[in-house]
Amino acid sequence: MIIARTIAEVRKTVAEWRKEGLSVGLVPTMGYLHEGHASLVDKAVSQCDRVVASVFVNPTQFGPNEDLATYPRDFDHDCKLLEEHGCAMVFHPEVSEMYDENAATYVEILSDMPKQLCGKTRPIHFRGVCTVVSKLFNIVLPDKAFFGQKDAQQLAIIRKMVKDMSYGIEIVGCPIVREADGLAKSSRNTYLNAEERKAALVLSKSVFLGQKMVKDGEKDADKVVAAMVKNIEAEPLARIDYVSAVDGVTMMPTHEIADGVLVAMAVYIGKTRLIDNFIVEE
Ligand code: AMP
Repeated sequence: MIIARTIAEVRKTVAEWRKEGLSVGLVPTMGYLHEGHASLVDKAVSQCDRVVASVFVNPTQFGPNEDLATYPRDFDHDCKLLEEHGCAMVFHPEVSEMYDENAATYVEILSDMPKQLCGKTRPIHFRGVCTVVSKLFNIVLPDKAFFGQKDAQQLAIIRKMVKDMSYGIEIVGCPIVREADGLAKSSRNTYLNAEERKAALVLSKSVFLGQKMVKDGEKDADKVVAAMVKNIEAEPLARIDYVSAVDGVTMMPTHEIADGVLVAMAVYIGKTRLIDNFIVEE
């Protein structure tokens, strides 16, 4: 596996692959990789001749009081996992390689879409995500890019950005990978102590509860959300940021359970903010 630290190295290698007529897939990540990330790489390897993963903790998507400085990192482990899963190149730039000190251009969706759900408490987050993903698209020029359903709002926003900006890139969504007990895998799970790790199960339990209500025929989204909220509130270590039902494409609130509706949550367990969700499939 090639370890590239500069934009020029990535461009040179991808150009060589292109000359050979090979297709290219991109898996953007912030590192500290787990099986959720690996599932994206696996899917990319199954659909593309060469796969590039990026490992970059992107400062522009973190708010001033968020965990940029403490975000977990283990690049050696990341390389091992990526190589084992058939990744051809990892792009691991310094912040200075990605952002010139005078950089002043952002990619931002100006509708209400990025203001919903996570956008309510993370106002600059999706501007940072769109900007860095846009840069990665311009650097790698992939045929396809792979994103997890775990970050459902991010996936919807990337799809919207790709459409609005006419990127000729296919966005492939990948299902949520969970621990054996249900907790959605996340790099941030490492912040949880033993007691919090147990309490964190309240997220997936609420997701499964909501899914069961929908499966049993509940059509009132407010009732589904209320039951999930009640479930979470019974956990003393949990503090709800939001539990919401929204249209799966626009992210705007909905009161009705219908095909494609996204039921999403962000919950603090102690100081750690975790997310989980499900999509209604009818
Ligand atoms: P991150 O490193 O957290 O920025 O995540 C990089 C990519 O991996 C994003 O597209 C995430 O949605 C995806 N991802 C993270 N955790 C999971 C998971 N448990 N299952 C599926 N995809 C995931």
